[in-house]
Amino acid sequence: MNNHWNLPDIPHKGWRLLDVIDIREDGQSVEDTDYETCMMCGNERIRYVHIVEHNEIDEEFRVGCDCAEKMTNDYVNPGQLERNLKNRAVRRSKWISKEWHFNEKGNQYLKKDGHYFLIFKDTKSGKFKCKVDEIWGKKFFNTVEEAKAAAFNGIDYLKEKEEW
Ligand SMILES: [Zn+2]
Repeated sequence: MNNHWNLPDIPHKGWRLLDVIDIREDGQSVEDTDYETCMMCGNERIRYVHIVEHNEIDEEFRVGCDCAEKMTNDYVNPGQLERNLKNRAVRRSKWISKEWHFNEKGNQYLKKDGHYFLIFKDTKSGKFKCKVDEIWGKKFFNTVEEAKAAAFNGIDYLKEKEEW
């Protein structure tokens, strides 16, 4: 296990937080999640990855919340951004497990907030596509859950934009 906290040539302070990401964003199951390892302390199974950069280091570091707080000397924002993502993940899983209906072709659909969501199964490939109102998503997904998550992310993104 790598522990960069003990290496003298890796700065402990002066890092800037660039972003926090949820690596299970696309509706993956727990088993399929590719957890990351904190590049600073070597802690494994990190789901919420904090991306930080430093003037003297070429590479961006992907670390856990605790390390991000120490490295940026910011004990507010890393935790806040991680909490936002966690809340979003809760809303997304509620959305995926909602009672979707089946249309006459056997595809699942849901009407919500004035929008019509359809998960379409391509019989040839067995993969799934999503449609929001009249707009088809471009991507194919392996599972219904992933397609539903994509629809959620799409509408969530639009909502965030409207709030600006
Ligand atoms: Zn760490």
